[in-house]
Amino acid sequence: MQRLAIAPTQIQDGQILLTEAQFHYLGRVLRLQTGDRFMALDGRGGAWMATLGQKTAELGEVICFDTELSVRVTLMVAMPKGSGFEEIVRQGTELGVTGFQPVASDRTLLKPSANKLQRWRRIAAEAAEQCERAIIPTICDPVSFTQALQTVAETQVQGYIATARFEGVSPLLTVLSPESQAIALATGPEGGWTAAEIQAAIASGFVPVSLGKRILRAVTAPIAAMGAIAAYFERDLSRKVK
Ligand code: SAH
Repeated sequence: MQRLAIAPTQIQDGQILLTEAQFHYLGRVLRLQTGDRFMALDGRGGAWMATLGQKTAELGEVICFDTELSVRVTLMVAMPKGSGFEEIVRQGTELGVTGFQPVASDRTLLKPSANKLQRWRRIAAEAAEQCERAIIPTICDPVSFTQALQTVAETQVQGYIATARFEGVSPLLTVLSPESQAIALATGPEGGWTAAEIQAAIASGFVPVSLGKRILRAVTAPIAAMGAIAAYFERDLSRKVK
């Protein structure tokens, strides 16, 4: 089924007010004709069947997706250089991330432009669509690591910080709890966290965690962590076959 991401404000009186670009996309790219049906997703959990009209689309029945993890996960990622964050957004979204908090750490090299942020948000929307999530993960504006720690400390979110050197650090799987409602996981940049950053995180209530004996790249670590988190929280899942 062809899918279209819409903004919640585009829905009015049972109609979707399509933009020129969306109209073009439906007609020229997806090759839909008047009367054809497609799926509209508002990125906040709303999903509907819709029928293409002349300049608008008629809103049809609600679609229920059940593709979210039982836990809300914020990935706090010290931005890797180059386009590494794009990979993290795409694959993290597929694995069920609720939100991304890009952070500037002591050894972060990247200073993202407003364009980059736009691009990351577009990638999150595309990935959510592709993997049938009705919720598009949020991508917050980048903040300093200190600021990010403070935000987590102020909420009821359990924080974890991935540290590449594993002596005395618990494996992630052994410290997760099935009752968790919301967690935040911090991963460092290419050069790793500084000792001061790890101390500050621990002081804010973060638990240091290991992702295994090998040193992972800054792009691999958040994805590996997210894979483990998704597997942990969905270990009893048995997919209903339609
Ligand atoms: N250059 C650093 C490693 C940086 S790896 C060093 O040699 O120590 C980039 C980030 O990925 C780390 O800051 C950490 O958050 C995460 N990471 C990589 N491997 C990991 C592992 N085995 N366990 C937990 N975190 C890991």
